[in-house]
Amino acid sequence: AQERVYNFSPGPAVLPVSVLQQAQRDLMCLPGYGMSILEMSHRAPGFLDILAAAKHNLKELLRIPDNYKIIFLQGGSRLQFSMIPMNLLRGQSQPADYLITGSWSKMALDEAKREGLARVAWDGKSTNYDRLPTLADWQPNKDAPYTYLCSNETIQGVQFDTDFDLKSPVVADCSSDFLHRPLDVAKYGLIYACAQKNAGPAGVTAVIIREDLLARSQDNLPGYMNYTGHVKEDSLYNTPPTFAIYLMGLVLRWLKDDVGGLEKMHAFNQEKAKLLYDVIDGSGGYFKGHAQPANRSLMNVTFRLPSEDLEKKFCKEGEKRGLDGLKGHRSVGGVRASIYNAMPLEGVKQLAEFMKEFQQQNG
Ligand code: PMP
Repeated sequence: AQERVYNFSPGPAVLPVSVLQQAQRDLMCLPGYGMSILEMSHRAPGFLDILAAAKHNLKELLRIPDNYKIIFLQGGSRLQFSMIPMNLLRGQSQPADYLITGSWSKMALDEAKREGLARVAWDGKSTNYDRLPTLADWQPNKDAPYTYLCSNETIQGVQFDTDFDLKSPVVADCSSDFLHRPLDVAKYGLIYACAQKNAGPAGVTAVIIREDLLARSQDNLPGYMNYTGHVKEDSLYNTPPTFAIYLMGLVLRWLKDDVGGLEKMHAFNQEKAKLLYDVIDGSGGYFKGHAQPANRSLMNVTFRLPSEDLEKKFCKEGEKRGLDGLKGHRSVGGVRASIYNAMPLEGVKQLAEFMKEFQQQNG
């Protein structure tokens, strides 16, 4: 087989090699079931086992309390930008609070406004979304139907490292840092994440919702858009993305059995990110990190070089060395190294080395 590169893409992104190998082995015939997961009915015992195991392992990994429901949906995280206000905001008299910390929370706000009242509780625009608020920086509305935040802004590379204790239910877009550390789930009303960054392939979005919030969903919502139907049918309201759920299940098992849980995953992610931030901080200003140090993301390391030409050259030379996908998002430019759970330490070490060499040669 052709040699694999180190894939720093923001998503779809790197997956554990052992997961890919398992999927390859299972593709012709899932042991015990006589057929591939791609061919199997979503109501067949084989898939129901896979679905149950995925839910079980997710619940164990995140220590999800019993009063939360787990559903697997399609439509990506973007559909949640709409489903959340449709279900949790309709019929409410107060506006929802939105923390605008970067591109993705802004897009979520725009969708919420289409549906109902949404208030900007904090906005990082004045410093170009390089930092995050602490509880002292905004005035939470305790009666807000929910407070919305994005735990990790994939484009800007800023990440919350705490779970807020608010009176209103916290709704968190964890798309780009799902399962990268343990979460205190009880502090959230709803947590969601598309899989294609940290948890699997594109095509499935995990939604974890506190049971009592389901009472807000109104009967006149379009069927697919109503959380309650998905909960009642246990993610089988319509044909779910069976392959994506299967593969996410393999990633969950990898996290549990091979990595040894989310505490270990977190420590490993901290170790990896430090390698890159140390190079940035030791470069005498050659590499400029976008995020303020206190809010740096462990998942998406964003930085600039002295010129756009050098940034282009950096990404091109990186690619030649097998360090792929380093170009920053088209909306902000620069360089972005996405180092999700499955990025091996060796890949990050090679990138750190390359950064130092590049500075020496182009400084
Ligand atoms: N939220 C965040 C934080 C993201 O990074 C992304 C995807 N880059 C999305 C939402 C949108 O996800 P999707 O493409 O699955 O709709």
